[in-house]
Amino acid sequence: MKKVALVFVLAVFVPSLVLAWLAVRSLRDQQFALERQQSLLCQGVADSLAEKINGLLSEHQHDFARQVEALLADGKPLDIAGAFDGRLRQNWPMAEVGFVVSLDGQVYSPDLFDRAEARRFRLENDMFLCSRESVAVYWNSPKGAINLSQLDQKEAAQPGQQTYDSSYKFSKEQKQARNVMPEQRLQAAVDNNSRISPAEAEFRQLVGDSVEGTVARFLQNKLNLMFWYRSSRDPQLVFGALLNLPRLTDDLRNVVKVDPQSPLNEICVALLDDSTKVVATTKPAFRANWKRPFAAAEIGEALPHWEVAVYLLNPGKFSQSAQAIKATLGLLIAVLVLAIGIGGGLIVTDLKRQLALARQKTDFVSNVSHELKTPLTSIRMFSELLADGRVIDKEKQRSYLGIITAETARLTRLINNVLDFSRLERGEKKYNFARCDLVRVVRETMESYRPHLEQNDFKLTCELPESPVFVNGDRDALAQIVVNLISNAEKYCNEQKEVCVELRRQERPLPHVEVRVLDRGCGVPKGCEERIFEQFYRAHDSLSSGVQGSGLGLTLARQIARSHGGDVVYEPREGGGSCFALRLPLRATEGRSDGESE
Ligand code: ADP
Repeated sequence: MKKVALVFVLAVFVPSLVLAWLAVRSLRDQQFALERQQSLLCQGVADSLAEKINGLLSEHQHDFARQVEALLADGKPLDIAGAFDGRLRQNWPMAEVGFVVSLDGQVYSPDLFDRAEARRFRLENDMFLCSRESVAVYWNSPKGAINLSQLDQKEAAQPGQQTYDSSYKFSKEQKQARNVMPEQRLQAAVDNNSRISPAEAEFRQLVGDSVEGTVARFLQNKLNLMFWYRSSRDPQLVFGALLNLPRLTDDLRNVVKVDPQSPLNEICVALLDDSTKVVATTKPAFRANWKRPFAAAEIGEALPHWEVAVYLLNPGKFSQSAQAIKATLGLLIAVLVLAIGIGGGLIVTDLKRQLALARQKTDFVSNVSHELKTPLTSIRMFSELLADGRVIDKEKQRSYLGIITAETARLTRLINNVLDFSRLERGEKKYNFARCDLVRVVRETMESYRPHLEQNDFKLTCELPESPVFVNGDRDALAQIVVNLISNAEKYCNEQKEVCVELRRQERPLPHVEVRVLDRGCGVPKGCEERIFEQFYRAHDSLSSGVQGSGLGLTLARQIARSHGGDVVYEPREGGGSCFALRLPLRATEGRSDGESE
């Protein structure tokens, strides 16, 4: 049995649990993969917008270079330099201040006394532009080194042609290569979670040999973004512009859009400035903790610490649906495991029952063989003695004949029981239901049994009513029940050889008649009160008790009684012993003393 249970656990239960575990794991992996995919998509959106903004900035830079070249086309660079601020602002509204500075540290424009913005610009930037001090700047000079001698030759060959390289684009490598990061700045950048960090530099140093570039610096926490450009007409002069940031921001707003065809329609994209303030957003009504985007991309050195940030409109939605799937799967697995457990339990129980039945059947065969053998031996022995004529004493002859008759009766009873049981099993048992007097059936059965019992020193008492009690039943079948009960009382009597048979009318719960067979024997062991009615079940083992039996008597008695609408029940007798009661429903016409069955 243990082996079967072990095989079941190993072959069904453990693999099911492993499968369930694998299913949960694969679901979790799938969830991670989906989350990762979504995060990559959002990162892609942020990166592409950052790229677009960089593109727009480089377009403005081209524009500025073109403006400078156009102005220089009107006259000699040095003549233009003095009035550069005014003329640039006139032609190019993106400029807030235009400046010209020579590499040897002379500022030509704007005029210090021109206007308030110009004066402030000069006061704040003169020292830096004249390369007299190093300041913390974010800078970028992406265009390759300028070769002055080559430029001179080029200028000589093609006077007036622009040397501006329109294929220029900010590239990440260039940005990184040009980022000089002193250690303390690097630490600050790490603390800010920003890849962009300022570097201390003089203007001359960051211009180097390049043709153009951007310089960004923070003055009183306000971003100052400058474009600069060196024309081949006079490489000693650097033309520059301080950009009008509100105008630039207006321009950037047009770039911050999400493709309506994009699968990511549940996101909000925002352009955040260096103080994490929203400059532009795709969903103006959306509110979030702007410092905690789902994905983000920095713009670069031109707009340091500005970033394109992506937020999920419903951040819980993804995990909610994943949780729901998980819960459903968990429930399914739990139901599956429970079903397997219950199914397994039922199989094991049934198997156990079948094994017990098989064992009982084997016992039954040996018990029946033994029961057949005992009376046959007696019958053979006594009939041989009588046949030989060796027993002359008449009394002895009668006694031997009595034994032969009793043993034959026992044999008949046993065979009847076995035959009836097999008929019942096959559903072939037929009853001749008729109106019959139960008092008479019990009395006749008892009287036929009385000589045998008295011969074996039994005290047989009976309490039967004088008047008949009619039931609807099969006379022989009812007699068989009474015989089986009396025979059991005889078998399990122990030392006290007393058998009492009673017949009483009972009114509760419904009017019925009860035939009780009582003995003072060993009684039914505790816990076996119901099991003794199961087929082949024996509460007293033949070997230990020495009482032979087939385990069919009570099974048959109960089945016959139930077929009559009644039952056979056991209850311990007060003062020791057993009390078996046959209960049968009364006929409606009960009480009429017609005496005979129909
Ligand atoms: P058996 O042929 O073994 O007597 P039964 O079906 O008649 O088969 O009885 C089933 C079991 O019930 C018996 O083996 C015995 O253990 C118990 N039993 C039946 N009658 C009595 C009784 N009068 N006293 C004690 N035990 C009894």
